[in-house]
Amino acid sequence: QDKKKQVQAVVKTFPDFPKKGVDFVDYFSILYHPKETQLLNEIVIEAVDKHFADAGESPFNMVIGLETRGFFLGMVLSQHYNIPFVPIRKKGKLPGETECANYATEYEEKNAAEIQKDSINEDSKALIIDDLLATGGTLRMAYDLVEKCGAQVAASLVVFEICVLEGRKKLKDPSSCIAIYEY
Ligand code: 5GP
Repeated sequence: QDKKKQVQAVVKTFPDFPKKGVDFVDYFSILYHPKETQLLNEIVIEAVDKHFADAGESPFNMVIGLETRGFFLGMVLSQHYNIPFVPIRKKGKLPGETECANYATEYEEKNAAEIQKDSINEDSKALIIDDLLATGGTLRMAYDLVEKCGAQVAASLVVFEICVLEGRKKLKDPSSCIAIYEY
């Protein structure tokens, strides 16, 4: 609890960014502080272990990070659990064969994102990472992409959840998303 408070103390929020009415929670404000970044890594690993405490062996076997802010913790988790890290990026940035999905977010109506097809298969059980859950469009897109590839979502994790926007409800299994801080 102390760790959680110590990390939260360095988080900055910016009203009306990137447009009016959006209260932007700045994930990068944590990364300015190496000690708090390390604490957040520990908090996240503890939360994942707790979520899967009663699950069988290897409940997930890959980590998917959402561009860009899902990459940092995604790498930390992939290294900790010794499993592959796979990115989901905005359309047009990944070489090779890709699977694509369209989505909308809190402040952008039309987006498309992709995953490399050879990074994932029917045996994949993904842990999906992003910094923040707002309207849920982004996370829902990631779940859809994983399923389009014939794989499963084991769980997802966000550092921040903006609860009033009820993004969690867009997920087929709302309880599959782990949120560290609720706003
Ligand atoms: P959603 O699709 O749930 O509406 O929006 C979530 C996505 O937009 C995430 O990928 C997240 O990085 C970005 N996002 C939306 N609002 C915020 C915010 O307040 N802070 C940060 N750091 N990212 C946000």
